[in-house]
Amino acid sequence: MPDLKTVVADIAEEMRTRPDRGEVATYIPELAGVDPNQFGMAVIDAEGEVAVGGDADVPFSIQSVSKVFTLTLALGKIGDRLWRHVGREPSGSAFNSIVQLEYEGGVPRNPFINAGAIAVTDQILAGHEPREALGEILRFMHFIADDTSITIDEKVAASERRTGFRNAALANYMKSFGVLQNPVDYTLGVYFHHCSIAMSCRQLAMAGRFLAWRGKNPTTGHSVVSPERARRINAIMLTCGHYDGSGEFAYRVGLPGKSGVGGGILAIAPGIASIAVWSPGLDSVGNSHLGRIALETLTKRMGWSIFGD
Ligand code: GLN
Repeated sequence: MPDLKTVVADIAEEMRTRPDRGEVATYIPELAGVDPNQFGMAVIDAEGEVAVGGDADVPFSIQSVSKVFTLTLALGKIGDRLWRHVGREPSGSAFNSIVQLEYEGGVPRNPFINAGAIAVTDQILAGHEPREALGEILRFMHFIADDTSITIDEKVAASERRTGFRNAALANYMKSFGVLQNPVDYTLGVYFHHCSIAMSCRQLAMAGRFLAWRGKNPTTGHSVVSPERARRINAIMLTCGHYDGSGEFAYRVGLPGKSGVGGGILAIAPGIASIAVWSPGLDSVGNSHLGRIALETLTKRMGWSIFGD
């Protein structure tokens, strides 16, 4: 078995010098200014050893990676009743697409496209003030990452709110079908803020550990979710975590993963590792270009694809 630390250091070096870096997201103005030359990677193994490479300690906007954690929280809160408000099938369309919503009665395909994540956020908000719901989400991040320094980047949140016309359209459309229960502004406010959580690769890999080790933090032994729930969240990450690039991600990387337009990806090798990569340049469907290539290289060299080596 190749040495993990060497493999991660090699990949970081290979990615640092690659000329093809994808395009940084510009529809959120605050993200448009991020330097595309950055690359970070952090891998935590079953012993709790952390292998890092490149800009692994630079915080970035986790964006849609936050949807894994809001899904976990919402399932904890209302269990399988969540599936009345959101489906769990791949969408085969863009992360911010509205077309399926009309055909399917305002119920979004899955919790990882924007419409689905907004519906999930609406469930976390139910019965709370937006500030309380956000506090709950942030405390959950602190708990699973063992790190109370994780915060929300208010500038990114404000930038998203100013330009979030598409998300406002999705939310209003769902509201018209009765899928959202709270005032649209409240739900969107919480959604924009959880997308604006800033974390480094090291922090994100720490936060993902419960998904790699049957719902438990392997270091403290604290249980976050049941093994069954961890398995199911991983399944949704595999089938829906990269929007209409999910098939390609499974084909090339072979791990459950969730991407965000900030260029981050959380990937889970069940029983083996929790992995975070970050490179801000995106491919044509909005997933990190070098992040995916780095993960493909890692799984190939380590033999970690869930489909075999
Ligand atoms: N906050 C972003 C949005 O709503 C999240 C999208 C993403 O990361 N794919 O558009």
